[in-house]
Amino acid sequence: MEFIVKKELTEIFSRLGEWVAQSERPVVITHLNPDGDAIGSLLGLYLYLKNSGKKAHGMTPNNFPAFLRWLPSAGEIVRYQGHEKRARQILQEADLLIMVDFNDPKRLGRLCREVTASSVRKAIIDHHPNPALDAGLVAVQEDASSAAELVFSFIGQTGGKKAITPEIAECIYTGIMTDTGCFSFNSSRPESFRTVARLLETGIDKDRIFNKVYNNFSVRRMQLLGYALYRKMKVLTKYHSAYMVLTLDEQKEFGFVTGDSEGFVNYPLAVRGVIFSVLVVEKAGHVKLSFRSKGKFNVNEFARKYFSGGGHVNAAGGESNESLEKTVHLLEKTISISAHELEEAFRQA
Ligand code: 5GP
Ligand code: MN
Repeated sequence: MEFIVKKELTEIFSRLGEWVAQSERPVVITHLNPDGDAIGSLLGLYLYLKNSGKKAHGMTPNNFPAFLRWLPSAGEIVRYQGHEKRARQILQEADLLIMVDFNDPKRLGRLCREVTASSVRKAIIDHHPNPALDAGLVAVQEDASSAAELVFSFIGQTGGKKAITPEIAECIYTGIMTDTGCFSFNSSRPESFRTVARLLETGIDKDRIFNKVYNNFSVRRMQLLGYALYRKMKVLTKYHSAYMVLTLDEQKEFGFVTGDSEGFVNYPLAVRGVIFSVLVVEKAGHVKLSFRSKGKFNVNEFARKYFSGGGHVNAAGGESNESLEKTVHLLEKTISISAHELEEAFRQA
């Protein structure tokens, strides 16, 4: 496996450009429970491949939230879960797999087996640390704002400025906007803003995109957020931490659908003194955890160490196969074990 960091990114992109030129049936794949960057990167690249005359496909392991379904060609994405037969056929006919916004096979869910079994060329475009997925070309830039920003670089380098159509620009802008919390984190590199400037030059309406993503929720979702903050937020002042737990019963009560708790985990960070926030969501058969931090506290390490997960320094996720009760207990314990790191990070914040 070749591990390429930013200096060599141009070189790896030019080799990926050759692979794309030789491919007739490329498939772009992203991770389980896709977020804005996953879908934005996937669609941006998919549209570019389609515009280049390929019989391209975009594939996700499972469903994605309604606030991303307005994106250009989102309806063409093949969801593996529920459409296994069609997805398998597409993968069998594929001659190139490009994975975006993840680099750990565990993040593919049940699609993992199909991808690892495939013997065609595989490439990764991503911004996560610790790559663990085997691929012939690995284009990883950890300090990039998003995978979408890297997809932009790849398309720009391979197809030139004209290849960035307004549709592609909308997808990539959505990826950058969502993965940086509307340019509030992961966005201190001037290059990210140069990318955004180039996207705006295609004529896209960034305010419309903002409204489609962030002002497009159901009444129930807003009420669930209010409920979570009012009734469920537990602040552990001593540890500069806060967490919220959403049980299956509570989700049912609020008519929970995919994506409804997206962003909830960020709110407790707005409390003075809180530098670590966790959202615990009970699922059928397991528990999903989301971690966010301000400053130096490394939630990627925390998620890897205690909840078989990972992510970035300030945003990560993981899961537990224990009961909800045991998971929350473990969370409290692991937070108390991390008291020293939390205190250090709090002092430096
Ligand atoms: P979220 O909390 O929004 O689900 O995920 C935040 C970030 O954490 C994602 O962008 C991804 O990088 C990472 N992440 C989330 N869940 C998992 C997981 O189960 N495993 C790993 N390795 N990373 C995850
Ligand atoms: Mn991302």
